[in-house]
Amino acid sequence: MHLNTFNLVVIGAGALGCAVLENVGKVDFSSVTVVDGDIVSKENLKNQTLYSAEDARQLKYKSDAAKSAMEKTNGRTKFVSGPFYVGESRIGGVVKNADLVIDTTDNVRTRLIINDACSKRKVPLLFASLRGNNGFCCVVDWKAACFNCIYRNSRPEDAEGCGTISAEAAATAGKLIFEKAVAFLGSKAGQNLFTSFSIDPFSISAVKINRDEKCEACSGRTYEHRLDNGFIQMCGGGIKFSLQMPIDLDRLVLSLEGAEPKDGGSAVFCRKGDKTLFISKFGDFLFTGYGKNEAKELIYGLFSSGALVS
Ligand SMILES: [Zn+2]
Repeated sequence: MHLNTFNLVVIGAGALGCAVLENVGKVDFSSVTVVDGDIVSKENLKNQTLYSAEDARQLKYKSDAAKSAMEKTNGRTKFVSGPFYVGESRIGGVVKNADLVIDTTDNVRTRLIINDACSKRKVPLLFASLRGNNGFCCVVDWKAACFNCIYRNSRPEDAEGCGTISAEAAATAGKLIFEKAVAFLGSKAGQNLFTSFSIDPFSISAVKINRDEKCEACSGRTYEHRLDNGFIQMCGGGIKFSLQMPIDLDRLVLSLEGAEPKDGGSAVFCRKGDKTLFISKFGDFLFTGYGKNEAKELIYGLFSSGALVS
């Protein structure tokens, strides 16, 4: 199968994203873009096989580490790293030239943003999820149901809830998702089937779901489902917040106790006891060990002190 004319975008390089990329890296594409604003931590190493202990020690962006890992074994694909969380302002640029976008993120809010952007441009989207032993995936070509068609009436909260994902479950799901991507790109097969699967014992079922005529996303109406305050509880207990605009880190360092510049000024890292805060120049904040309210207070404090004005 010749896939080397296709541009692939994978958003979310956690356990499931990594497992998909393990397969993607073995095949020649024209380009593969990996987007994730998270950094590699020691806890990731047990189920995110693209990353090394050295990546965690250096606080590398997952997207950078994934790119380097795949480049080591594949010199023919052009790999691109997007070390940021996607949001309203960035997603258009990420998806616009893609032949297929694979969404392996872990929260509904981000999924809706990706779904909208792909819908607007009619870029094919494969959304996929794995929780514990169960997962689902679907290739959307905008002729049948999209992510929002399916989820618009069942959106209890932002977090999808994050069971532990084993490396074995991720590997099986990653292979399945990759096969769906290849079937669609190579022979326009298998799209619009909502596929749910269990890993151990393995079972799989697929149903065709028609568009929901009231769907805000694929009918092209504007809607405000995600204009909340932007704090997302992540798997593993971290909290992320994205300003969606670049920030002046030199200035921020002065207002933040214990802040240290990292990577020649591309990020700031801050440790206080068992709490850490990582801030990228793209305006992404990653809190670990913080409660949601505590994280909010810190951000509001930075706003009111003027440290976040770019
Ligand atoms: Zn829809």
